[in-house]
Amino acid sequence: MIDIKEKKDCCGCGACVQRCPKSCISMLEDNEGFLYPEVDKEMCIDCGLCEKVCPVINQSKERQPLVVYAAKHKDEQIRLASSSGGAFTAIAEPVIEEGGVVFGAKFDKDWSVIHDYTETKEGLAAFQGSKYVQSRIGESYKNAEAFLKTGRKVLFSGTPCQIAGLKRFLCKEYDNLLTVDFICHGVPSPGVWREYLKEETARQCGGKNSVLSHPKDNLGDVRIENISFRDKRLGWKKYSFALTLSVPDGHGAKNTVLLSEPLNKNIFLRGFLADLYLRPSCHACPAKKFKSGSDVTIGDFWGVQNLIPEIDDDKGISLVMVNNPKIESCFRNYKIKKWLVNYNDILYYNISIEQSVSLTDKRRCFFCNTESTLYKKINQLTKISLNVRIKRRLNYIYFNLFKKYNK
Ligand SMILES: Cc1cc2nc3c(=O)[nH]c(=O)nc-3n(C[C@H](O)[C@H](O)[C@H](O)COP(=O)(O)OP(=O)(O)OC[C@H]3O[C@@H](n4cnc5c(N)ncnc54)[C@H](O)[C@@H]3O)c2cc1C
Ligand code: SF4
Ligand code: SF4
Ligand code: SF4
Repeated sequence: MIDIKEKKDCCGCGACVQRCPKSCISMLEDNEGFLYPEVDKEMCIDCGLCEKVCPVINQSKERQPLVVYAAKHKDEQIRLASSSGGAFTAIAEPVIEEGGVVFGAKFDKDWSVIHDYTETKEGLAAFQGSKYVQSRIGESYKNAEAFLKTGRKVLFSGTPCQIAGLKRFLCKEYDNLLTVDFICHGVPSPGVWREYLKEETARQCGGKNSVLSHPKDNLGDVRIENISFRDKRLGWKKYSFALTLSVPDGHGAKNTVLLSEPLNKNIFLRGFLADLYLRPSCHACPAKKFKSGSDVTIGDFWGVQNLIPEIDDDKGISLVMVNNPKIESCFRNYKIKKWLVNYNDILYYNISIEQSVSLTDKRRCFFCNTESTLYKKINQLTKISLNVRIKRRLNYIYFNLFKKYNK
């Protein structure tokens, strides 16, 4: 029976919960805001299935991609609405056209992140764009299995550990299943995300510079209209977090408030990129190095400006790493432009493909401090000292002078 001794040993994929024949495992939220399985021992029949399907207990072999492409969707609107080059949509569209089903992560009504499926092209829009929060998988593996058994084509997208969990859950290979994961830095806590939205909403409604220590409950009429973690209005490389609110003006009408902050200014993204609230398993990832068993792995083509500058328009380029020859044949028909690239070159700019991020004292400080607001804690823990800022500025000047005189 599943018994989590160390938090790092559970990635929260939910395979055990969905496979248990007695339905005696529930996912419960811990004090960091992540879900973990809890077994009702009275009901458990000790069949061992939960351990058999766990992708942390049963890790697959490391792999390398067969071939790597830089890629962008030919439709510019799709590319702009996607996090990088729109590779996900390019892979998903033909599946829908063939009468298949696509699973992915989307925002729920309360702006938490959940896994769901769609059978229409319009439904793909909700999955587009990265949501930097761990998604709740719910019954998605069970639903995917039901579609697979009817013979319908299924595309399942998710984090590498979610794909690893799906594969273990299914226990057998299906010809009609296509799996897509992405290069994964790690997933932030859903609990911290909830807290951030409360604070940010209150902050926006209380005036630009006022940080309310206790978000007010009377913000009930303020509605979140849209959220994008990867807004490209300042470009793809310097992406922004964008939050659109509709706020009552007190006279029966509504004002639209737009918060748009680049990645180094937005407090939630700053904490995410400083690894303050990633799931413990992300610091010892069980599915990196292509251990997920996915057919294709997508990601951002960071470093494209140095490797293939002629294709970089700062609107987003994807990496598409083909792990299974079966995707190579479908790939020819996709509405996508592609260029062959070298695996070792792209690895240099995107080390998350192979390495987990280190666990720091700052993460411990973040979760130990229960007094301060989120805003204050993240601000304090991600502040860059004057020394480091001067050093970075000097490096920048030196680098640019060096480039100028070596032309
Ligand atoms: C938490 C997280 C960390 C990432 N870390 C890196 C990284 O270190 N390096 C890198 O190159 N790329 C990373 N990515 C992937 C990158 O942000 C893009 O998603 C990827 O480049 C694909 O972009 P696209 O334009 O092809 O498609 P998009 O339209 O952006 O496709 C989004 C796809 O991601 C899925 N998705 C979105 N959010 C989640 C979520 N929370 N959980 C599960 N699935 C989700 C959707 O279902 C959809 O399939 C990360 C993504 C996430 C969600
Ligand atoms: S051992 Fe079997 S019955 Fe018990 S929790 Fe695991 S799957 Fe469920
Ligand atoms: S990693 Fe997945 S299968 Fe393993 S214990 Fe955690 S939720 Fe269950
Ligand atoms: S870093 Fe690893 S454990 Fe964390 S979400 Fe990504 S794939 Fe899962």
